[in-house]
Amino acid sequence: MNVHKNQSLLPYNTFGIDEETQYFTAFQNAEELRNILSDATYKDLPKLVLGGGSNILLTQSFEGIVLKNEVSGIEVMDEDEKYVLVKSGAGVVWHDLVMYCVDHGYAGIENLSLIPGSVGAAPMQNIGAYGVELKSVFHELEALEIATSNVRAFKNAECDFGYRESVFKKELKNQFIILSVTLKLHKKPAFNTSYGAISAKLEEMGIKELSIKAISDAVIAIRQSKLPDPKQIGNAGSFFKNPVVPEDHYLNIKEEYPNVVAYPLENGHYKLAAGWLIDRQGWKGKTIDQYGVHKNQALVLVNYGGAAGRDIFELSESIIYSVKKAYNITLQREVNIY
Ligand code: FAD
Ligand code: NAP
Repeated sequence: MNVHKNQSLLPYNTFGIDEETQYFTAFQNAEELRNILSDATYKDLPKLVLGGGSNILLTQSFEGIVLKNEVSGIEVMDEDEKYVLVKSGAGVVWHDLVMYCVDHGYAGIENLSLIPGSVGAAPMQNIGAYGVELKSVFHELEALEIATSNVRAFKNAECDFGYRESVFKKELKNQFIILSVTLKLHKKPAFNTSYGAISAKLEEMGIKELSIKAISDAVIAIRQSKLPDPKQIGNAGSFFKNPVVPEDHYLNIKEEYPNVVAYPLENGHYKLAAGWLIDRQGWKGKTIDQYGVHKNQALVLVNYGGAAGRDIFELSESIIYSVKKAYNITLQREVNIY
């Protein structure tokens, strides 16, 4: 096992924050992980599992061991005329898995194209985009329990998936390390193009015959045109979740802000576009020294280079305060703070 001491995490987080970890190592399978976890030096230290580092904000040095997930491999486990079970190592890049499925004609995750990060982190917050969430195709995952080093399987219902939520962010937080994820994908696609700008983009691209490849291409093109590329500008995607409020609260807001962007939910509540709420309070494009709010998307906080995670965290506090004051809504952070 190759463990580095006082390692900078700058290359390992898309926000581009330069904080150190006391120890750093990578693992490729459960055996290597067990060896690290049973070693007397690291056994009782705090642990931080890292995939692509695209959903974290480091606000201080990490006094513990960072475990970089490098479990690789994609394989078909089973199939019939309707479905195929595809198992992926947790360290596989999520978009590589999407491309594998699109190339093989396995439908269900094409709307989730180009989401940064690893397969193993996808269940953590039940990744979602363009009207599709991981939970709609999730079959099971295998995870190693830190306390016992035993590997346990979790079926869909056991993960308690919600909007950008799972049991691994709540009751089982910091208890399991995800090693693999198996998806149940469709051989016959059910296209989902109603969300956001997908149909307009397909038309612009001159697509005559719908396919999962065409949808994936459209999603990639929209994302590349709208979102800051972390290789150029440090960010972790949407910093906040979209808030959900009861109808009377929504109607109160609508009275003062008739253009508020909101979507009715089945339970009678309303999901409000957090980006719109923040933008309306004048935050979009705001820059303080080397960090700020992205000029095209107020949900995305950015590091232009050299910012401290604490400063970005303070900025998020100011945004939460201003949104609370304006609409009586407390925004929840989507990004994991360390
Ligand atoms: P990391 O940042 O490495 O980890 C995130 C959290 O999960 C940490 O708490 C970590 O400890 C934990 N974790 C990671 N791997 C494991 C594991 N194997 N076992 C246990 N715990 C683990 N998200 C969406 O849902 N939809 C989007 O459309 C989307 N768009 C984005 C666009 C951009 C430009 C960026 C930068 C981010 C976007 N995200 C989006 C957020 C992010 O890409 C996802 O949350 C992604 O799943 C994070 O993967 P990661 O490997 O980088 O996780
Ligand atoms: P958008 O299409 O401009 O839409 C703005 C917001 O309205 C989104 O947050 C989305 O909610 C919601 N929305 C749009 N159409 C909807 C519909 N038909 N029904 C219900 N809600 C609808 O958003 P965007 O910023 O360009 O992002 C596009 C997609 O990528 C979204 O799904 C977004 O969640 C995802 N994305 C996520 C991240 C992340 O880090 N989590 C970063 C970038 C993009 P939802 O967010 O609930 O979908």
